Amino acid sequence: MTAIIHQFAVGADNFGVLVHDPSTGATASIDAGDEAPILAALGHKGWTLTDILITHHHSDHIAALSQLKARLGARVVAPRADRHRIPDIDVAVGEGDHIQVGSIDFLTIETPGHTSGHVSFYSAAEKLLFAGDTLFSLGCGRLFEGTAQQMWTSLSRLASLPDDTRLYCGHEYTLSNAKFAVKFDSDNAALRARIAEAEALRAKGAFTLPSTIGKEKQTNPFLRAAEPGLASAVGLVGYKPVEIFAALREAKN
Ligand SMILES: [Zn+2]
Repeated sequence: MTAIIHQFAVGADNFGVLVHDPSTGATASIDAGDEAPILAALGHKGWTLTDILITHHHSDHIAALSQLKARLGARVVAPRADRHRIPDIDVAVGEGDHIQVGSIDFLTIETPGHTSGHVSFYSAAEKLLFAGDTLFSLGCGRLFEGTAQQMWTSLSRLASLPDDTRLYCGHEYTLSNAKFAVKFDSDNAALRARIAEAEALRAKGAFTLPSTIGKEKQTNPFLRAAEPGLASAVGLVGYKPVEIFAALREAKN
């Protein structure tokens, strides 16, 4: 693994992430919600922005896109399905497309549900996943433009990645998600241990991300909808996982 990741706070609970390839000097910003913190992070690391990888069209992920591109000339990679509502796209991507940040290869995985065009970027070699607002630590994105079935399919796809894949996402929501998760999965010892760990991290001002796919499979109620305990907690024993997922997502709204 060669990529260097720099994660930084943007506002109260949003994340910015820079991915740097030391062998070529290439640096990508994952999403572009706010220009000043991204410029500050680049300056702090001494990195030059070459690429901007956009997960979805929401303004807290693209508001600074045009300014950053105008200022730094970076290449913009964004979901093809959102061409009409994301400006300044250089490379439009969809399911199965590969893009390179320097020598680092990312596979585009379409993950609709939060928005219809949402994509996630996955590097198998680097064991890295940028899931935007699809999969959060102990949670998942709201269904603004997709169905429960679409989101369940997207989450199941991400859950099928190797357990040691590092998960980065758009927001620091772990502790608020934890309050919800523990209500529906109260007997889950791994969840209780993760909450204690997250509380300790937040108490010292540290981030709770990255998580891993393995940790999320053990503790995230939205990935555990096929577990009998979750079905029982929402009163839907015998129902399909997608129906348990839909009930959990509804309860969280
Ligand atoms: Zn969003």
